[in-house]
Amino acid sequence: MNLWKKIRKTGRVAEPAPPRPKDKPPKPELAGSVQIRHVDAGSCNGCELEIASVFGPVHDAERYGARLVASPRHADALLVTGPVTRNMETALRRTYEAVPEPKVVIALGDCARNCGVFAGAYGVAGAVGDVVPVDVEVPGCPPRPEDITKALRGLTGR
Ligand code: SF4
Repeated sequence: MNLWKKIRKTGRVAEPAPPRPKDKPPKPELAGSVQIRHVDAGSCNGCELEIASVFGPVHDAERYGARLVASPRHADALLVTGPVTRNMETALRRTYEAVPEPKVVIALGDCARNCGVFAGAYGVAGAVGDVVPVDVEVPGCPPRPEDITKALRGLTGR
């Protein structure tokens, strides 16, 4: 009972929501609620730590209508991290094809945008844009959770 009282008293603890994004979402049909499938195409896992933070209690991206889902068939958007390694090139292409239209691809982090520190490495097939069409880029190595949240809010418009 004491725990229940404490939960009620504490309420929801998250960063205060910044103002709504002013720009129109790139795919207005998806505005309001965007289901996201994350694909690690060869990341060092630094970007994944920031994604975990974005969907954790501090930034709580779900309150803006962005949700992570387990299957590309349930998704509206792909959130791709890392340079695309040779072993992940086909997997990324197939995952992209499995997402129903209309869909959005977010290249998250410098590696996803332009291979970053892995540019020229023997195992790297290219940036995300070399394999699938990219709609939104989030720069940074890794990007700040605030910037990732902002990009996701740009998709949901909330
Ligand atoms: S952008 Fe930086 S943190 Fe993200 S996968 Fe590349 S090296 Fe790692």
